[in-house]
Amino acid sequence: MPRIYIETYGCQMNVADSELMLGVLGREGFVRTDDPAQADVVLVNTCAVRDHAEQKVLSRMGELKRLKRPGGVLGVVGCMAQRLGPRLLERVPQVDLVVGPDGYRGLPELIARARAGERATEVEFKSWEHYEDVPPVRGTQISAFVTVQRGCDYRCTFCIVPMTRGPERSRKLEDVVREVTDLASGGTTEVTLLGQTVNSYDDGTHDFAHLLRAVGRIAGVRRVRFTSPYPTDFTERAVAAMAETPAVCEHVHLPVQSGSSRVLKRMLRRYDRDRYLEVVAALRNAVPGIALTTDIIVGFPGETEDDFRDTLALVALVAFDDAYTFKYSPREGTPATRLKDPVPDAVAGERLERLVAAVRDIARRTNVALVGSAHEVLVEGRAKRGDLLQGRTRTNKIALFPGPDAWIGGYRDVRFTGTTGSTFTAVPLDELAVVG
Ligand code: SF4
Repeated sequence: MPRIYIETYGCQMNVADSELMLGVLGREGFVRTDDPAQADVVLVNTCAVRDHAEQKVLSRMGELKRLKRPGGVLGVVGCMAQRLGPRLLERVPQVDLVVGPDGYRGLPELIARARAGERATEVEFKSWEHYEDVPPVRGTQISAFVTVQRGCDYRCTFCIVPMTRGPERSRKLEDVVREVTDLASGGTTEVTLLGQTVNSYDDGTHDFAHLLRAVGRIAGVRRVRFTSPYPTDFTERAVAAMAETPAVCEHVHLPVQSGSSRVLKRMLRRYDRDRYLEVVAALRNAVPGIALTTDIIVGFPGETEDDFRDTLALVALVAFDDAYTFKYSPREGTPATRLKDPVPDAVAGERLERLVAAVRDIARRTNVALVGSAHEVLVEGRAKRGDLLQGRTRTNKIALFPGPDAWIGGYRDVRFTGTTGSTFTAVPLDELAVVG
């Protein structure tokens, strides 16, 4: 049986897509291997959001091509494949296949053609493609990503995603419910609903509020998460559904991108600073104790020191639990590349440092205040270092604590005993902890 190795870069959507590709290829008899040197087919699932991500993949391709077995196939899939298409074949002669996110159904045939010596590209958008009949092969049973929407109809000027993932489309609510019901009957208790602007979910009959309530009702589902929402797509109905559905976790990743209304306008975000703060207030009113994380870009063309200070002030005002912070990375073909007044790299770098320090400082203060509090955690496994278990709270905080392997996959109540500023040490609250 042919062996397949998939290496995944980028966002959760790519993780879910790799699981989907393993599903497509699994039903054709491919078996998974974790060793690229043993694989007959190596696929690299790529991200195109920043130049750095693409450079990393190109250098990784240099390593993987050396491991290619005689008759083996090396493919690039995902957003970078979609963006560069046949140019990738020219750039890396050892690459046999270039397949975009809507082309995974055709992988078995494309691989067969590659084995016959043909170098193939498949980057057509298919607005009907939901991979509804393909059961993803997931790495863990504990928690599952469930794609509910693909593509994006927004046109944020910095973003390549509409060009790599095509138009927005939502799966039918019944199909999502069926998939989650199957997951729950297999023992999965936590699901993360995925979409590029997940809360604009609309299957023609149902909206995001319907979706949250329907998934939250499924027997066995104890936690529902979702990512990434678009700030102004939180309708009152969606916020009410979050508040009234016990399984929906008290955490929202709410990308703001900038705290300056002027910059937000140039980014073509569909809110200004005040509107974003209204959404934050609505979420906090409806869901007490909700944790908020965000994405922020610094150095966007035309960003002045005053604009950047607005971002710092917004970070302090919202007091985000965490933030992914980035220097603006121009992406070929996006409208922002035509904007005037680029910010010098050194200035953007210095702003990024100040922003990271501000985010860390606020997160640390929030987390120090949580030491001593008790939380339910889902035990995800052993921590990367040491022999402690790692668990996640409903608010998406990571806690490390002692305990036996038998707890993995289950829920425990723990008390936070300390924090590094971002993660926590904890002790379990039940008597088994004494033994464990
Ligand atoms: S909403 Fe904007 S940032 Fe998000 S994927 Fe769509 S275009 Fe990109």
